[in-house]
Formats: sequence, C-alpha cells, structure tokens
Amino acid sequence: MGAGLIFNESAFVPSWSGVAVLLAYLGYLAIAGSFLPGKLVAGAALSDGTRINYRCNGLLSLFLLIILLGTGVSLKLMSPTVIADRGIELLSITLGFSLLVALILYVTGCKSRHQGSSLKPHVTGNFIHDWWFGVQLNPHILGVDLNWYDGWLLINLSIFSKSLQNGDANLSMVLYQLFCAIYTVDYFVYEEYMTSTWDIIAERLGFMLVFGDLVWVPFTFRLVALDNQVKTTKAAAIANCLVFLIGYRVFRGANMQKHVFKKNPATPIWGKPPKVIGGKLLASGYWGLSRHCNYLGDLLIALSFSLPCGATSVVPYFYPFYLLVLLVWRERRDEARCSQKYKETWAEYCRLVPWRILPYVY
Ligand code: NDP
Repeated sequence: MGAGLIFNESAFVPSWSGVAVLLAYLGYLAIAGSFLPGKLVAGAALSDGTRINYRCNGLLSLFLLIILLGTGVSLKLMSPTVIADRGIELLSITLGFSLLVALILYVTGCKSRHQGSSLKPHVTGNFIHDWWFGVQLNPHILGVDLNWYDGWLLINLSIFSKSLQNGDANLSMVLYQLFCAIYTVDYFVYEEYMTSTWDIIAERLGFMLVFGDLVWVPFTFRLVALDNQVKTTKAAAIANCLVFLIGYRVFRGANMQKHVFKKNPATPIWGKPPKVIGGKLLASGYWGLSRHCNYLGDLLIALSFSLPCGATSVVPYFYPFYLLVLLVWRERRDEARCSQKYKETWAEYCRLVPWRILPYVY
C-alpha cells in the first residue's frame, strides 16, 4: 500500500451502489440522531437569549452502528473493506452530496422568514460568499440537525480491515488506529462540550462546514492511514504515545475547563478558585497559559496521528499542517469576534495572557 493506491484503487465515477452506501450511512445517522435516547443539553445562549436543545446520543449511535456493521460483516451481507476499496468513488459521491446540500441550505436559508438568532438569514448578496459560509446558524433539513456528522472512524476501521486482510498491519498502523479511536470515542463521550464551541455558536452552516465535516476531515485522515506502512521502533512508539497523551490532556482539559466555567464560573480550576476577568472570561488553568491552549492540544494530537508514519513521506503530515493553518486562521477570527463582543474585558485578558496558542512562542 502507499499514497499511490489512494489514486489508483477505484474509479472517481460514482455508481448507484456507492450512492446507496452513502445514503444508508446518512439515513442511519439521521434516524439514530432523532430517535435514540440521549442527555438533553441546552446549548449556549444565542445573541437573542434563546438556546437550542441538543440530544447527545452520538456515542450510542456510534456503538449501535458498529454493532450493525459488525453483524452485517459476520453474516457476509457486506464487506468490511467496502470503504477502503471504494474510497475515491465514495469521496466523489460525498463531494457531490456536499455541493447539493450547500445549495439546498443556501436556497432554504434565503427564503427563511425566521428572525431568531438560530435561523435568521444572513444574506450578503454575494452568492459565492453566502453559499460558502452559509446563511443560517443552525439550519435543519427534515428536522435533522446537520451539524453533527462524523464518518472518520468507519473509514479507519475499513482501512484496518484491509490491512489485516493483506497481512501488513504493523505497530505504526495499530498506534494510528488506537489514537484515532480514542479521539473519536472521546468526542462523543464529551459531545455535550461541543455545544459551546465556535462551530456551534458562531459558524453558519454552508459549503465550508458541510464539505469540511463530510469530505475534508474524514478523507484527509485517509491519507495518513494509507501511508502508514513504516516499521516503528519501541522508543519511537513510546515518544509517539507521549505526544498523543500530552496533546489529549491539554485538548480535553482546556475544553472541559471552559465548558465547566460557562456552566458555573465559581468551579475551582486546578484546585484553586478561578481567576475571572469582568465576570465573563476565564484566565486560569489552560486559559491562563494561552488564549487557545485547546488548539495546541489538538495540534499535538494531529501530529501524533502522523508520527507513526515516520519521515519517509510528507503526505501523512498533510493533516497536521492543514490543521495548523486552519486553527491559526480560526484563532484570528475568534479573536476578532471576542474583541468585538467583550471589548475592554477582552483587551484586559490579552494583557494578562499575551500568548495566542503556544506559550512563549505564539
Ligand atoms: P473554542 O472552543 O475555543 O471556543 C471559542 C469561544 O470560547 C469564544 O468565541 C468565546 O465564546 C469563548 N471563550 C474564548 N476564550 C474564553 C475564555 N478565556 N473564557 C471563557 N470563554 C472563552 O473554539 P473552537 O470551537 O474553534 O474549538 C473547540 C475545539 O474543537 C478545539 O479544541 C479545537 O481544537 C477543535 N477543533 C478541531 C477541528 C478539527 O478539524 N480537528 C476544527 C475546529 C476546531 P463566547 O462568546 O461563548 O464567550
């Protein structure tokens, strides 16, 4: 296997069976998301004071999907390598689907007469801009909240099955799969914390997010998985685990501290009463080290996904590099938003915590 395989293994031209695979997957997510039980969480207060209630049933939905697919595989109704075998075809179908959904979101968004923060249309009149960034904050299609999809774990599991089938699964592949599985399951265990993140509270849903969630993130991880054929030493494996664990601790710790702070600003941080600026901004714990320490944690995790691939190719490092660009850009946009929202309180926070992402460097 290797990067070459990514481009040769299957046709880019979609087939009806490929479309059926994608629709079955999205249909399952829509049904499971709407009907499976889960903790009801009130989202962050929007600018008009309203909140959206989210049903956090992602973990149950993920496990049920894995059980259903496992049953399908053991009954020989489907192949465990279907995604790995037809990766490029599924990529082209998902891309087409994203273009269509973004167009539907644009048209329905422009027609919306809602005035609440969640569904109020923000139309600039520039079609490309409105289609790309989206028109509404939290649109629904047929009652399904579209902000919550993730197919990355399934792609990985399929590639892992392919490796096992080919007899070329090695320690670096196992490490990569393990880190990714922990990261994905963790996302759903702490799904509630996502309700206070930028994507949910500030980013409108347009082609950028739909394409990012459905195509870009899952399929760029594929580049890492497919290039993962390097024999790693024990020392390198231990170092790699350390990068993942430190990254995970910073990422989860920072996101958790902010979420807990938003729920109850008096909750102790690292065993001490929190330092709070203007009653609104947390300036202790990870949020006292840099203004986006959570991004630093995420970047270390992304690096740990690629490190098992060694230094033989730059292709697996595409994901951490892309994430670096994305998070630096996002940090700038969030900074502008917070500076406008919190004014002098934000300026005081910046004076107290001068580092944006990496303390003493940036
Ligand atoms: P954050 O979770 O950092 O949310 C930013 C918001 O938090 C701000 O707009 C502000 O909102 C609030 N805030 C900022 N500083 C403070 C503070 N000191 N005290 C209290 N509130 C504060 O941003 P994201 O949603 O971008 O990131 C969430 C996680 O998702 C991160 O770990 C990130 O790495 C990850 N992520 C991963 C991506 C991937 O592709 N792997 C892509 C994007 C994000 P408010 O107005 O509510 O106060």
